[in-house]
Amino acid sequence: MAEIELRNLCKRWGSFVGVNDFNLTIADREFLVLLGPSGCGKTTTMRMIAGLEDVSSGEIRIDGKVINDLEPKDRDVAMVFQSYALYPNMNVYENIRFPLKVRKIDPASHDERVKRASAMVELDEFLHRKPAELSGGQRQRVALARAVVREPNAFLMDEPLSNLDAKLRVSTRAQIKNLCHELAVTTVYVTHDQIEAMTLADRVVVMKSGLVQQVGTPTEIYDNPSNAFVASFIGSPAMNLVDGVIENGVFKAKHMSVPVLEAQEGPVTLGFRAEDARLAEGANGQINAPVYTLELLGDATMISVRIDGVLVSVKADKNFRTNIGDSVSIAIEPQFCHLFDAETGARVS
Ligand code: ATP
Repeated sequence: MAEIELRNLCKRWGSFVGVNDFNLTIADREFLVLLGPSGCGKTTTMRMIAGLEDVSSGEIRIDGKVINDLEPKDRDVAMVFQSYALYPNMNVYENIRFPLKVRKIDPASHDERVKRASAMVELDEFLHRKPAELSGGQRQRVALARAVVREPNAFLMDEPLSNLDAKLRVSTRAQIKNLCHELAVTTVYVTHDQIEAMTLADRVVVMKSGLVQQVGTPTEIYDNPSNAFVASFIGSPAMNLVDGVIENGVFKAKHMSVPVLEAQEGPVTLGFRAEDARLAEGANGQINAPVYTLELLGDATMISVRIDGVLVSVKADKNFRTNIGDSVSIAIEPQFCHLFDAETGARVS
């Protein structure tokens, strides 16, 4: 059992606020991802939960008990870092066993626990090797096994896939998801990679400049971003965002005009996803512009045009053929439009 509560959690260094009034209850067994750009306060939040960083104000509770002043070793949480942090002189077996020794767990149980943890991450054949004799992916799996072997109440993972190449990232990501599901342990996972967040999380917390922007399931955040920042951070490509004004129920920018369902008149940012737009015959769409770039994705072709200084992308059929400079017309349906306040970025409809 491990429900983690963050209550008005703040981290300040002098007048700089790294984490600003973070409030959240992370459910027992939940996989929670902290997502945001560099410097937004993800790692600081995680380090406060781990006890590696003092809390400036607010509370952290695990299962109802305030743990602000508890030493890291007494928190029963296991951390996995981007850098693996393995002991170079110990072999894999000894590295995995290390937390059991530190925590003075009955030595009679060590062998079985190390073997069970190493089997979970498919390292059984590498137990005698030193970290230098392993690939990056294998090292990260040792770090995972070392977290697992303790059978902690919670895992805290800080960008554990960052040092892996693209292919290994995908397979290790699947392994982490499966492992956390099997072990049913509360997990807090930090990343700046929105695909990792979307694929791993039960819920995602999107952060910016120390402030929580939105908390929700991946689908909620993708379908209903609460502001333009979240909309621009989630999705590949990110949501198209165009500044303009609403006049008589029609969104107007210099090079486009789209009827919208309902919204207050005045300046707004219009958002729509590439897969929610389509190419229209002739010049029947709402945006008519030359192709700026196109990308063959295998299952689709992503076509981008440049209007008013911003790139607008539309997902077209994989067989659609066009060239840079050719004219295209993009159609956008009102029901797929998101509208954000032009000044604050907050969602208005
Ligand atoms: P990244 O993805 O780059 O790791 P992050 O979202 O994890 O970024 P944090 O490491 O939590 O960001 O840092 C949040 C902010 O706090 C940053 O602006 C950082 O410069 C600042 N910060 C972190 N540690 C300190 C410190 N010891 N003293 C002063 N400022 C700090």
